[in-house]
Amino acid sequence: MDTEGKVDSGFGYEVVFTQSDESTPCCPHGPTLLFQKVGRDGERGRRFYACSACRDRKDCKFFQWEDEKLSEARLLAREAENKLKRPPFSQQQCVARFRQFLSLPTDKRKFCGDCQTLVLPDELAEHASHSCSSVSASQLRRPSLLLRPLVDKKSNAQYLFTERTSHFLLDTLVAMGYRKVLCVGTPRLHELIKVRNLETWKSKPLKSLLLDIDFRYAQFYTQDEFCHYNMFNHHFFDSEQAPSAVLQAFLGQHDGDKAVMVADPPFGGLVRPLAHSFSTISRTWTTLQNSAGCNVDMPMIWIFPYFFESRILECFPTFSMLDYQVDYDNHSLYKHGKTGRKQSPVRLFTNITAAHFVLPEEEGYSFCAICERYVCSLNQHCPECNVCPSKDGRRWRHCSLCEKCVKPSWRHCQSCGRCALPDHPCLCDKSNTEKMGCFNCSSLDHKRNTCPQKRIGRSQRGGKKNASSTRGPVKRKRKTSKAVLL
Ligand code: SAH
Ligand code: ZN
Ligand code: ZN
Ligand code: ZN
Ligand code: ZN
Repeated sequence: MDTEGKVDSGFGYEVVFTQSDESTPCCPHGPTLLFQKVGRDGERGRRFYACSACRDRKDCKFFQWEDEKLSEARLLAREAENKLKRPPFSQQQCVARFRQFLSLPTDKRKFCGDCQTLVLPDELAEHASHSCSSVSASQLRRPSLLLRPLVDKKSNAQYLFTERTSHFLLDTLVAMGYRKVLCVGTPRLHELIKVRNLETWKSKPLKSLLLDIDFRYAQFYTQDEFCHYNMFNHHFFDSEQAPSAVLQAFLGQHDGDKAVMVADPPFGGLVRPLAHSFSTISRTWTTLQNSAGCNVDMPMIWIFPYFFESRILECFPTFSMLDYQVDYDNHSLYKHGKTGRKQSPVRLFTNITAAHFVLPEEEGYSFCAICERYVCSLNQHCPECNVCPSKDGRRWRHCSLCEKCVKPSWRHCQSCGRCALPDHPCLCDKSNTEKMGCFNCSSLDHKRNTCPQKRIGRSQRGGKKNASSTRGPVKRKRKTSKAVLL
């Protein structure tokens, strides 16, 4: 995965992984990624650099051809612009402010809702026309309730775990004996760990480090609890100290405490850059272990929608997807089943033994002794496939012609020779045949029976989702923002 030339072709554009160095241009979000347009026949376009974190040009307009030479003036202008986008305070300043804030009597502790900052007494005048309110000690411990979740930006919408999900995650990690949690884009889990430590003050506290691009969180934590971080390029923003020094210190403490990473990236994010960062974190962990040379990977949980399964497993073949449905407070469509709403499509992907995750029986999960994992109530073991086949929480059905289990809404189509939705663009209609090209690789030049890539079986096509990434006009457009998933 780390070698040059491997790609992420999620959007008709690939990310080309090269060793990032001094020459990699930077946008306000750190080193950019090298992209390449891929045509239908695999022809490659001119390479260019673009922002790693923002999938929408409105959020970060950085663009540069790989072979483009910029004038000194433009380079300086870019640097000035990057500087301008930096947070108003350094992290060190944030920590000093927080100390000062905590020393104030409770009635003097204010938070500005407009600026999303803690306000010190001598700054009150600057926020005179803003909506400032008092903050209690318990609110300070739950910044994810105090801060307004980012919603406006496509690439950085924040979806916060429900109490149900965050407690499930924490209880599960504790039960498995983890004492150190690396929270990547999981501010709510991070704060819950600290709250839990206060409640169980008699026992040894759990450690937690939050890595997140949302700098507002720096206001509430010390420097060894929060790093301003971009998970798409593994970039640490803080220039005050060696990059990732805090991460190294966190993972390197030889206290015998077991560490685990829990990441909940924005769903519009590219899979490969994320996997690249997570494996860098994993390697960092490995090199810091006492037992050098032993071949274990860092335990990781990556939270992402189920239809990314094949993409994630391509990057992390040892991962498996669990049936647990992750749900979110501020996303009505992502609430847990039962309420009559659609079920959440978000799952846990992990290299931890699936059987160690005891999914709540009161929510209908039960243990499948053959698969050795908990599955959701409608996911019934198929004797033919010898798996619990459902990915989406619905009851799947075995098709003897396809020799696999398929979604309940699919019917076997004689013309197409496979199961599909009843209103699928059927091959029996000539115009579709022309439009759709090869069922195997999506090329318009041939049909499946003459496909040169025969080895990719039908089972890997995974319905429309995979195919749509390479078919049709190539747009740099997200197909899977959280809002359009369902
Ligand atoms: N469910 C989580 C929040 C997930 S929302 C919880 O309740 O704790 C996605 C999170 O990733 C947000 O906190 C967001 O600020 C963060 N994020 C978004 N883009 C990021 C990036 N490029 N690098 C690091 N963190 C990012
Ligand atoms: Zn203000
Ligand atoms: Zn089956
Ligand atoms: Zn079938
Ligand atoms: Zn058909």
